[in-house]
Amino acid sequence: MAPQTKKDKVIKVNTDKCTGCRSCEMACSAFHAVPKYSLVNPSRSRIRVFVNQQQAEYVPVYASDYTPAQCNRRQVHTISGKEYNLCTFCGSSCPSRDLFKEPDSHLPLKCDMCANEPPLSAPMCVQVCEPGCLTYEETEVEDKKTLDGPGEMEMGLDSLVRKYGIKKVEAMLDQIAKG
Ligand code: SF4
Ligand code: SF4
Repeated sequence: MAPQTKKDKVIKVNTDKCTGCRSCEMACSAFHAVPKYSLVNPSRSRIRVFVNQQQAEYVPVYASDYTPAQCNRRQVHTISGKEYNLCTFCGSSCPSRDLFKEPDSHLPLKCDMCANEPPLSAPMCVQVCEPGCLTYEETEVEDKKTLDGPGEMEMGLDSLVRKYGIKKVEAMLDQIAKG
């Protein structure tokens, strides 16, 4: 059965407008600090900005799922005449690099769209992006509830428990719940 769609809000990234100011990284790390806003540390951010200052290129990348299998890194993309390997713009937390890992525990970080109670008017990274590279817009998305099989969250937790053990994952979930 073809997946159904529904209206939902997503973050859109227009890299042409990114100035590399890194306000998004600072806001994300502050929002997810425990207690909230107690710390600004971009290495704890769920968005990281790839910077090529020589060519004035800035590409924000969002943290996506943890993957226990590193890719073969053999794909090379040429953009404006410059070659980049596959890892440059990848949002996965994986065994082959430190990006998108919590610096102390090394547990994977993933963008949670700033889930909050009450909900925010827009995710923090969007709110602080003055140049308008990041926008929060309604669009048509796949309705995951209509798909068969385990949901994204269930699969992600399975992988984490296999890699880190149930105790460490429980501690991480406890920390998230307190945040
Ligand atoms: S806040 Fe916006 S312009 Fe600044 S680095 Fe992040 S995405 Fe780019
Ligand atoms: S949406 Fe929220 S959690 Fe995701 S990168 Fe932006 S500030 Fe961080």
